[in-house]
Amino acid sequence: METERLYFTDSTILQFEASLTGVSQANGVYHFVLDRTAFYPTGGGQPNDAGTINGLNVTDVIDDDKGSILHVVADPAGLVVGDKVRGVVDSVRRLDHLQQHSGQHILSQAFVQACGAETRSFHLGSAASTIDIELDSPVGEHMRAAEDLANRIVFENRPMKIHLVNEEEAARLPLRKESAAHGIIRVIEIEDFDWSPCGGTHARRTGEVGLIAVKSFERAKRLTRVEFVCGGRALRDYRLANRTAVTIARMFTVERDEAPESAARAIQENKSLRRRVRELVEITARVEAAQLLASAKKLDSFKVVPLVFDARDVEELKLLARRLVEGEPAVALLASKEGDMARLVFARSESLEFNMGQLMSEACAVLGGKGGGKPELAQGGGPNIARVDEAVNGAAARLMG
Ligand SMILES: [Zn+2]
Repeated sequence: METERLYFTDSTILQFEASLTGVSQANGVYHFVLDRTAFYPTGGGQPNDAGTINGLNVTDVIDDDKGSILHVVADPAGLVVGDKVRGVVDSVRRLDHLQQHSGQHILSQAFVQACGAETRSFHLGSAASTIDIELDSPVGEHMRAAEDLANRIVFENRPMKIHLVNEEEAARLPLRKESAAHGIIRVIEIEDFDWSPCGGTHARRTGEVGLIAVKSFERAKRLTRVEFVCGGRALRDYRLANRTAVTIARMFTVERDEAPESAARAIQENKSLRRRVRELVEITARVEAAQLLASAKKLDSFKVVPLVFDARDVEELKLLARRLVEGEPAVALLASKEGDMARLVFARSESLEFNMGQLMSEACAVLGGKGGGKPELAQGGGPNIARVDEAVNGAAARLMG
């Protein structure tokens, strides 16, 4: 049975009386069919309304494409065909959808007038909405121009009117896109601005849409995808963006709008500091290596430096090891306790013939781990931190033996 669509001619109706004309069960839920409804079913890029029928939650609203609208409820609660029911549409959800959807009509026409870019598709998501427009090389200026025009139309609070016309009359209107419908066509007019065939729920005047803001844009499938928010969503998004900006500004103790400059400066300073730290670490390693060699034990013709550090990363160990072996003949047997792992770096001068890779795999076996490398430089480690001194001293003893 055909359902009269109250939202079709009046999107302000949010409460209504109706008769139950159908109750059926499908996939563990129930479908109510009413003789008339204000509930908007999913379609035309707009999600369905939510709300209640006689206090029962309506979780989905479906157009069966045969003229009936199905209201999905978990349980019919004893209601039968012929009962009078009262429907209540969730006004917050409706207003949100209405703002995003009406805002899309305005923004799409604004892109046509400001950049000559036609809209090819529209998606209304639960957090943000997108339109795909025909714009080849999008830049920020395009977005600002369309945004300025769209918001001017909002601020002028122009009427949005519903026209029900036949195909001939529709052909004479300056429609932004062609209608896929036949017979009576519903056209939404934004006074002196835009005419679009559409079955969705719309604002009565553009002022109801509230602020229209472009959040971001990117090239997608040879079109430009524009993400935007309207009305209540724009307000929430502004609050979030403002809080983020203020939080960052406080970290730098500056005014909100000075934060990007401060952040850029901090990143630059950080880069030069890292460069300076690398230089200083290099100098320190040379000095440290010279001191260690001066007090190292000399065996036959070379020196051995076995040393366990408390917390040094492998790169620092490697740097020190290289400095230790680059001059007079020496072997560096360095270790560090890093968190729950012991790390080892063994190195020797080029003039010596010991195999550091071999020595390393033996030392790692003591630590319950793995390691190896080239004859002149090897690294490894293992989880058995308690035996790290044993592993290093064992390697030193092997060189002397
Ligand atoms: Zn519409």
